[in-house]
Amino acid sequence: MAALNDVNEQQFERAQRVIPGGVNSPVRAFRSVGGTPRFLVSASGPYVTDADGREYVDLVASWGPAILGHAHPAVVDAVQRAAARGLSFGASTPAETELAEAVIGRVPFVEKLRLVSTGTEATMSAIRLARGFTGRPLLIKFAGHYHGHSDSLLAEAGSGLATLALPGSAGVTEATAAQTIVLPYNDLDAVRAVFEAQGPDIAAVITEAAAANMGVVPPDEGFNAALTDLAHEFGALLILDEVLTGFRVSDAGFWGLDRGYTPDLVTFGKVIGGGMPLAALGGRAELMDFLAPAGPVYQAGTLSGNPVAVAAGLATLANADEAVYDRLDAVADTVSSAVSEALSAAGVAHRVQHAGNLFSVVFGDFERAPRTYAEVQAQEAYRYRAFFHAMLDQGVSLPPSVFEAWFVTAAHDDAAVDRILNALPAAARAAAAA
Ligand code: PMP
Repeated sequence: MAALNDVNEQQFERAQRVIPGGVNSPVRAFRSVGGTPRFLVSASGPYVTDADGREYVDLVASWGPAILGHAHPAVVDAVQRAAARGLSFGASTPAETELAEAVIGRVPFVEKLRLVSTGTEATMSAIRLARGFTGRPLLIKFAGHYHGHSDSLLAEAGSGLATLALPGSAGVTEATAAQTIVLPYNDLDAVRAVFEAQGPDIAAVITEAAAANMGVVPPDEGFNAALTDLAHEFGALLILDEVLTGFRVSDAGFWGLDRGYTPDLVTFGKVIGGGMPLAALGGRAELMDFLAPAGPVYQAGTLSGNPVAVAAGLATLANADEAVYDRLDAVADTVSSAVSEALSAAGVAHRVQHAGNLFSVVFGDFERAPRTYAEVQAQEAYRYRAFFHAMLDQGVSLPPSVFEAWFVTAAHDDAAVDRILNALPAAARAAAAA
């Protein structure tokens, strides 16, 4: 084991001397699963290769963007051609308009789109816009949902905060935290009660289109629609966060599987940038035109709409056809069923949770599917640590936390899927023995 990880261990030691925790984003540090993070040097299709030259079938997909698989030739080609024309102009480009049109063509309630560089910026700007538009200060979010690391959104957040069991972040003032009301997910009564008590002060409700940063916890049937109605009843906006789900679970995001309601604002990230730093917020024109320079809500970015990132996003969306979504669904179905079978065969109580082609495993004996952060936090998370390492040792890279979704790509061919399936029985036995 030590010999196997030598290069990664050396890299991690070296990184820790100059980078806080040795990583530039916390979940990468393997804190909850233990062991040494792999330092990756290349990726192709469904595979990633570490600094030791070891290849893994990847079920992280850069946390979502790589729906076509890593280094898809059409995306790499588009990026190389854009790079040769200039890395950044800090001026408008025709391709930005093309990308806005491509998104509007897929998600009909979006009439205008503003490009930013990260999901964090997209949600942060959407909230400012909601506050500026309504003239109200408060925000409702759900426990276990992650919307990036801006101050007002770190309360009881999922993703790395769930992994590290942090209720929030040092450095966020009480005044800021007090402007975010955190409620249990899938609990419309709790939302109604807060609206009835404080309605005139609530600018917006922000919700992940399907929660996938506390593991996958889908919204109850009709939840997003009812939530939208409730927000509108009290004059507030509904911000649908599709940073993770957008263009991944369908060509119109999770909304495309759910429809029947009209969010006011939506945020995209990950797939829309095809692996480059690019994200967006969109919505109806009347609202979006509140953004500067058309309106009074300021929002800007030196690298916003970066031409290389836009080229990657356009090429990714252009290649994400029906066959890609069919393959994503089929791979997710095969792998998630096999995980469940292997765990059952090893006697490990569990549930597999789904939101379109996103899925994750909850360990423990649950009578019904967990619907809230409190419920998923009650699971036997220690079993995932053993499961994760048994998979990694057999050349399969899973998200290094039980509180993250598993991401498939359309490049997961039969050989890659077989490698995953072959690794599962031993990993399930390791989870049983944990
Ligand atoms: N919203 C959601 C739903 C996310 O999953 C994430 C990132 N995982 C973000 C926002 C923040 O995006 P970024 O990491 O690009 O800032």
